[in-house]
Formats: sequence, C-alpha cells, structure tokens
Amino acid sequence: MAPNAEQVKYATRAEMERAVEMIRHTIGEDTVSIEDEIIRAHGYSEWSTINIDRLPVAVVFPSSTEQVSQIAKICHEYRVPMIPYSGASSVEGHFSAPFGGVSVDFCNMNKVLEVYAEDMNIVVQPSVSWMDLNDQIKHTNLFFPIDPGPSAQIGGMIGTNCSGTNAVRYGTMKDWVVNLTVVLSDGTVLKTRRRPRKSSAGYNLNALFVDSEGTLGLVTEATLKLATIPEENGVAVVTFPTIKKAASMATDVIRKSVTVGAVEILDDVLMSVINKMGATSRKWAGVPTLFFKFSGTKASVADSIQQVKQIAERHGADDFQYESDPIKQKALWSARKEALWSMLALRESDGHVWSTDVAVPLSRVAELIDQSKEDLQGLGLFVSVLGHIGDGNFHETIIFEDMDRQKVEDCVHKMVHRALDMNGTCTGEHGIGIGKKDYLLKEVGSVPIEVMRAIKGSLDPKWLMNPGKIFDFA
Ligand SMILES: Cc1cc2nc3c(=O)[nH]c(=O)nc-3n(C[C@H](O)[C@H](O)[C@H](O)COP(=O)(O)OP(=O)(O)OC[C@H]3O[C@@H](n4cnc5c(N)ncnc54)[C@H](O)[C@@H]3O)c2cc1C
Repeated sequence: MAPNAEQVKYATRAEMERAVEMIRHTIGEDTVSIEDEIIRAHGYSEWSTINIDRLPVAVVFPSSTEQVSQIAKICHEYRVPMIPYSGASSVEGHFSAPFGGVSVDFCNMNKVLEVYAEDMNIVVQPSVSWMDLNDQIKHTNLFFPIDPGPSAQIGGMIGTNCSGTNAVRYGTMKDWVVNLTVVLSDGTVLKTRRRPRKSSAGYNLNALFVDSEGTLGLVTEATLKLATIPEENGVAVVTFPTIKKAASMATDVIRKSVTVGAVEILDDVLMSVINKMGATSRKWAGVPTLFFKFSGTKASVADSIQQVKQIAERHGADDFQYESDPIKQKALWSARKEALWSMLALRESDGHVWSTDVAVPLSRVAELIDQSKEDLQGLGLFVSVLGHIGDGNFHETIIFEDMDRQKVEDCVHKMVHRALDMNGTCTGEHGIGIGKKDYLLKEVGSVPIEVMRAIKGSLDPKWLMNPGKIFDFA
C-alpha cells in the first residue's frame, strides 16, 4: 500500500542539518560536505533537460556498505531524503533534490573488489566507471559491454538500466547484473542473489532494483557478468540519400538476424556538423549515414559484412566503406564517436543542450525518425538525430537558448507522443527522472504506476529514497 501525504512528511531544513551533524559525528568529519559549490554540483546538471531551484542540504561520501547503512539509519530516523549519486551523467533531473535531503556520493567506493575470470564475472563498487573497468580487466581477455555516457559509473548505470551502442548485440544493463548488495531506506542491507550466471530462485530482485533510479535503495556492490573480447572486429559506414532509407536498411539487417556489434544512425545535420567542426580527419558526405560494428570470429565477421553489403545495395545505399585494420577502423568510427561533442562545440556560452530519447517497435522506427525530422523543419531549432537504430531507439539533440525553451519542449512532446502512439516508449535508455514522469503515466497508465507506488511504499514507507523521481507519492 502506498503511503499518503500525511505519512510522507520530510524533515525541516533545521532537522536535516541536525541529521547531517549526526552523520558527521557517526562516520567522520571529512565524509560530509556543506560547501556551496559541492552542493550545487550535486543538485544541478548541465546535461539535464530539467533543473530545479532546490538543492540538497549536504553531500555525504561513504566508503563502505556499513557506512551507507549508518547514513540511511540516521536519515530514516530524521526523515531526510537520500539521493544516490554516481557518475552524474543522467539527463532527466535524476539526481536533483526537489525535497532537499542529502546527496549520497559513492566516489570513495570505486574499487573492483574481485575478478572471477574463469566464471566470467566481477564484483565492483558503485563508483567504478565502465571505461576504467574495461581498462583494469583487459589482461583477462574479458570486457564489460555496456557503454552509456563516458563518465557513467556502475551505480548510476544500474539506476537507469542504461545501454548504448553495444546494446543491439549485448542487451542492456539488466542483462549483466548477477547480484546486488543494496541498503534500504531504513539501513537494512540485503544481497539479492549469490553468483551463478542464472537463477530462478524466488522473485527477481535484481530486476526490481535495476532501473529504479535510486528510488528503492542504495546499491553498494554489484556482481556483473563479463563477455569475451571478440577475436575479430570490423567497421562499415554506409551512406543514403534519405534518413528513411537508412533507417529501413538498418532495421532490415536486424530482422534478417545478421550479427552486428552495433548499428548507429546519424542524420545529415550531424554529419555536416562533424565536417564543419573538423572533428575527424575524414571529410564526410554530409548525408544520412549508418555506422556498423562487427565482431566475432574472422569467418563470422566476413559473413556478416557480406550480408550487410547486399542489404545496403538492395536499399539504395550511395556508398559502402569497410575497414578491418584496427587503426583505419578507428578513423572510420571516429565520426560516430565525435558526433555529440561536435554538436556541443557549436553551443553559445549561454546555450543549453536537450538530449532526449524514445524507442519504438522496429517496424515503426524509420517512419518515426522521418516524421520527427519533418516536424523540425521551419522551427528554426538546431537539432540533430542520432540513434541506436538496431534497437528502435533514437535521440534528438537540440542546442538552444532560453528564449526557445518552449519551442524545444513542444518539439520533444510531439516526438514522445508519436513514439507512444506507435506503441513505443518515452525513453529507451535515459530513464524517467523528473523530466518524463507525465509521459510514463501516459505510456503505462495509472494501474502499473499504482503497483510501482505500492512496491516503493513497502520498501521505503517514509518515501525517502530519491523522492520526486519516476512518479510522485500522490
Ligand atoms: C554524453 C552522454 C552520452 C550518453 N549516452 C548514453 C547512451 O548511449 N546510453 C545510455 O543508456 N545513456 C546514455 N547517457 C546517459 C547516462 O550516461 C546514463 O543514464 C548512465 O547510466 C548514468 O550513469 P551515472 O553513473 O552517470 O548515474 P547518475 O547520473 O549518477 O545517476 C543515475 C540514477 O541512478 C541513481 N543512482 C546512482 N548511483 C546509485 C547507486 N549506487 N544506487 C542506487 N541508485 C543510484 C541516481 O540517483 C540517479 O537516479 C549519456 C549521457 C551523456 C552525458
């Protein structure tokens, strides 16, 4: 049963400050900060589509599960909201503090604890970044394939069930979690499972905590699966006269079950921006372009490339370039890698970025991208389209100034509603945070939200864990 407004009553600012003093006293002087700059950095994000005026009253920096539990016990007693914070790359106001409270920054919990190479899994703390993780385990010939924003860390990646370019081959974060250690809002510590690669034992609590955006508990440890580094890699770039043709070709590749490591779509705007900014050593055609990655054995990669080439020809591709040499592959993939940064480099000093994503069934994605591009014409907005098209997931990135905010909101609103009308989702990978709560309600309806509220209410009856995200308590 979800609590009512009477039961959810947060501490006053003075009471929150007393709780912070208690945390300082309990876990140590230098584990708490009330410096303005640090507090602001934990309640505001330049990546976020939404920012609010209120900030946390303090930031706490625990070093162990035990300390996280102590913090939670104190916050629970004083009714202080807790907002988990890892790499801070989420984009929908996920770690903002609409009710004040404390930001729990895991930066001191950034260690790889155990590597079980033979079992192909690893135990990590929440502030390990996926990029560092891959550097640290290179020698094992294994890697962790989930690749969201470059600064993302495991705690936040679990929080948003993130994915990235590799998802078409390897799935999303939820597929790589073996078990989690979680501290609940009253300080209780639980471990969801042991360490087998699969289990049917009881409710799937991993699935409950993954994608809960820190609203159910604080993840303090995770056991993750690893994949073997493929023997052979390849990169291909295919250009098309229209974005619709590019999108149709990409979805055809998936429908024909050709094994690809990634398939990404970049529109003409983005390709032209990359040229304009001189972001790569190549000059690109400035037209809609698909970027493919291939990985596997030599034979399987050769076979996949051949199939993709034939499908590209059938869909009227203008050009097909392929590289197997690792250095040349990097050059060919460089435009995909530099895309967002090139776009951001064009931002004026007072400009903002709005990066939003939706996902639809494969058969509808070409139409959705095409219609969304049409909607943008004549609006005078600077927008590009980039997508993990193999999963029916794409992003619009809009660079704008304050005076155009309403136009941008209208444009995003239209794109999300189109996606929902196509039986899609308001977010394929970024999550709900504050920014997409209304869309979630439209997407799933009120009954599933009531079920989510009841689950949260039973684990967090005082509604202290990252309140105001995903859905409200009433
Ligand atoms: C340049 C850029 C590119 C991006 N590309 C992609 C992409 O391709 N694919 C994609 O999926 N996303 C992408 N993102 C979004 C972002 O990287 C992901 O959402 C990522 O999973 C967030 O991880 P984080 O560590 O930064 O989390 P944070 O922003 O710190 O937190 C995210 C959420 O998880 C919660 N949380 C954090 N730590 C914990 C914890 N220990 N326990 C419980 N809850 C916790 C937070 O409260 C918050 O609700 C991109 C972002 C940027 C800026």
